[in-house]
Amino acid sequence: MSDILGVIKARDPHEKEFYQAVKEVLASVKPVLDQNPQYRQAAVLDRIVEPERTVTFRIPWLDDEGKVRVNRGFCVEMSSAIGPYKSALRFHPSVNQSILKFLAFEQVFKNALTTMPLGAGAGGSDFEPKGKSDDEVMRFCQSFMTELYLHIGVNTDIITGDIGVGPREIGYLFGMFKKLSNEFTGALTGKGLNWGGSLFRAQAAGYGCVYFAAEMLATRNMSFEGQKCLVSGSGNVAQHTTEKLIELGAKVITLSDSSGYIHDPEGIDQDKLAYVKILKNFRRGRIQEYAEKYPGAVYTAVDGQLDYNPLWSHRAACAFPCATQNEVLEKDAYNLINNNIKLVCEGANMPCTPEATDIFIDKPLLYGPAKAANAGGVAVSGLEMVQNSMRLNWLGEEVDNRLKMIMKQIHQTCLDAAEAYGTPGNYANGANITGFVKVVEAMLDQGVV
Ligand code: NAP
Repeated sequence: MSDILGVIKARDPHEKEFYQAVKEVLASVKPVLDQNPQYRQAAVLDRIVEPERTVTFRIPWLDDEGKVRVNRGFCVEMSSAIGPYKSALRFHPSVNQSILKFLAFEQVFKNALTTMPLGAGAGGSDFEPKGKSDDEVMRFCQSFMTELYLHIGVNTDIITGDIGVGPREIGYLFGMFKKLSNEFTGALTGKGLNWGGSLFRAQAAGYGCVYFAAEMLATRNMSFEGQKCLVSGSGNVAQHTTEKLIELGAKVITLSDSSGYIHDPEGIDQDKLAYVKILKNFRRGRIQEYAEKYPGAVYTAVDGQLDYNPLWSHRAACAFPCATQNEVLEKDAYNLINNNIKLVCEGANMPCTPEATDIFIDKPLLYGPAKAANAGGVAVSGLEMVQNSMRLNWLGEEVDNRLKMIMKQIHQTCLDAAEAYGTPGNYANGANITGFVKVVEAMLDQGVV
């Protein structure tokens, strides 16, 4: 296994996020490989860490001043072993091949966990939607799609939103996809409700994360009622995690964006959350404005000199990192533990550094890894695909019940696999092993391709 990591490092020395994601999975699946020599014989590791296809492309577009701008686009198709690629699309200046390979790699195991026949990929661009006009975003999305449409399709690669790709971007992307392909098909999910979208798709990752966390708490006879919670981020996942937590009686006291965080000791209620949704989704403002609107709250700007994030220093029972990768550092993990945190559940992908993850796994707290905990997003994307194929829309209650059932099932599967491989209660091992075995078995069935 260290051979594989060595190969990755030698081939792509700058891809540190991808390396981090692979290393974490390899550590979990070692006992599986030891018990199944046929996996090593078929070189499944060598194959699973190499994308089936990676495309990079130029995205030229015109800004509002008529100036030509150029961004870089990526499409990483990681694994089609168990179904067509199902990719999340990210628009953020930090996007590069390493970030997208890490997202695509994580997605392989996550999608396998959903119980649906979904392969995995990731795509995106270093384009920054923040500060751009709607027209600029539209022109960028249209240019992006003129290349991406060559690689996606309902039986090839189905894409959905991630950081920086919300309903506005999905709308523009879908419009151009439809025009270029001359087809109205479900090659994109997260669509508008009156043009093929599914109820509860927007809520799915956040709600699913809370459903997963509720299952974890139930193993210790606990519930969210009256529990203080820390949530980071203020985008799609953070908003819907907060919404469901409030509904279940929890008190959410923090939210953040890339500029800073707010601490509201009185708790964020549904009215305050409605304000956040308008602020972030429509006005596209900064979370700082929350503290101006609600004087009981305190805003703290990001301090680049700190080796920790003060958001995680507040005393609470549960923590939900829902912003981005590596946002919970080693010191944050110690701060949470010292404040007697009971549960850490990852809404974002790989939000905890390896050092922080090791600290959580070593302690008797409940730690829900992203692959399992935020799988609700892709699961409801899968349900949107089913509804599109059937050409009907399910009622919200049906989608939400299915989401709950899927999260419950993922929770149980993780527990069972962790137990079977000698690490009871280790959800990270359980998620990695379950996803790995499912995908690898399919690879063996399909030969060396
Ligand atoms: P989003 O709506 O674009 O929101 C992202 C949030 O994270 C924003 O508050 C953003 O702040 C903050 N953020 C982004 N980059 C940051 C950075 N480098 N440092 C600090 N804060 C940063 O995205 P999202 O869909 O909620 O995604 C959040 C996380 O959940 C990601 O890890 C994503 O991969 C994961 N996820 C999403 C889904 C889904 O269905 N959307 C499903 C599963 C997992 P600014 O406003 O300042 O940019």
